[in-house]
Amino acid sequence: MIDVINPADGSVVGQTPMMSAAEVAAAIDRTCAAFPAWAQKTATERSTILRRWYDLVRADKRVFAEIMVRENGKCLSEALGEIEYGLGFIEWYAEEAKRVYGDTIPSHDPNASVLVMKEPVGPTAAITPWNFPFMMITRKIATALAAGCTMIIKPAEETPLTAWKLLEYAREAGIPSGVFEMVTGDPKAIGEAFTSDTRIHKVSFTGSTRVGKLLASRCGETLKKMTLELGGNAPFLVFDDASLDDAVTGLVNAKLRNSGQVCISPNRVFVQDGIYNTFVERLTAAVSKIRVDQGMQDEFVVGPLINQMALDKVTSLVDEAVARGATVKLGGKPDVKGGLFYQPTILCDLDDSFAIHNTEIFGPVFPIYRFSSEEEVIRCANNTEYGLVSYAWTRDVGRAFRLSRKLESGMVILNSGSVGTASVPFGGIKASGYGREGSYYGIEEYVQVKYVLMAGQNR
Ligand code: ADP
Repeated sequence: MIDVINPADGSVVGQTPMMSAAEVAAAIDRTCAAFPAWAQKTATERSTILRRWYDLVRADKRVFAEIMVRENGKCLSEALGEIEYGLGFIEWYAEEAKRVYGDTIPSHDPNASVLVMKEPVGPTAAITPWNFPFMMITRKIATALAAGCTMIIKPAEETPLTAWKLLEYAREAGIPSGVFEMVTGDPKAIGEAFTSDTRIHKVSFTGSTRVGKLLASRCGETLKKMTLELGGNAPFLVFDDASLDDAVTGLVNAKLRNSGQVCISPNRVFVQDGIYNTFVERLTAAVSKIRVDQGMQDEFVVGPLINQMALDKVTSLVDEAVARGATVKLGGKPDVKGGLFYQPTILCDLDDSFAIHNTEIFGPVFPIYRFSSEEEVIRCANNTEYGLVSYAWTRDVGRAFRLSRKLESGMVILNSGSVGTASVPFGGIKASGYGREGSYYGIEEYVQVKYVLMAGQNR
């Protein structure tokens, strides 16, 4: 068994099995064996089962939220928010299951009809990270199941308890063994088992760009379809004409969510000359009001980082920036609480040669850069290998449209700090991956197109 640790105090809150290769193979076999019967169910039958799962989980939201606080460290209000977000995918895809339409195309042959059908791609596999233990699972499996695919999931070994609970409720709702399978153990070995199996037709992965590339190269050998939601280095642009208080609130909410351990977390904040000082002042005032604490309470608090490696990484990025001349406006150190807590930190006077500019921080740190012109800041914002999301605040409509065209990312968020919901296509470009999750685009990733020529009609 593998111990699951509460990052807030180091206590063991549960365990998850270290499955053997034979156990993983048996679970993959079940996933493959269950596919034909699941694919043959009507869309309405699949939809009804998903909806039942949604209702059962919704009735016990608090149970899931408390598990998440214990294994992930996020606070209760955030955990409940994540559950709403995650349940949204089950609800959305329970409905979308019924709308996987095909096409008819005007025929090139007077003696024939051209049909385009959409079929589930087959048995699928997914690997999920620890930062959203609930939503990362529902977003993948609800889509797969709605499309008629079966799925085997390996959740992160740091946060498997939420995932096992979801499986338990799925069984109660009538999602059978094989249709939704779960394994935990050695990530590398499980990844190899998923990617090398020719019966698995798609792998969906959310996690680091390093592991994403590794899995993509493995999937290349068996030509699997993939969805890859990888790292980010989100720019957050604030122009002189922005609504400042709203921009501050949007930034604080986006950044401190999950203690900054989010792939869409603003990683580089660019503020225009004219409002730079005021913005930094207001941001500092807003962030200083937020407490650092363990999460089992109703107040929003900045929780611990997930493990020692995460704390060491954030500490070294900030230390390097400070050693190279960055100004610390707030925080700058591990919190006095000790353990895995890090102070919300605001840094100014940085440039693109700093490690913190080019690294996904995954901690509660706001690095602030100053800019003068729109052209300059677009260049700076795009100066990264990643392309997940860009945020920008401006009340100039023309500029807003220019930004939406010129910012190189899968998502551009204007005048808001909030990105995700089930009805929108979430995903990136460049080193942030490919494929989309959510919306009707998300289900397209789980179907294949079949062209049927129906000739011989006029003899
Ligand atoms: P993070 O920094 O978010 O932990 P990772 O990419 O390391 O990012 O982890 C995301 C998921 O990928 C987790 O479920 C983890 O267990 C899994 N993982 C890590 N290494 C591998 C690997 N070599 N093969 C397959 N999965 C892996």
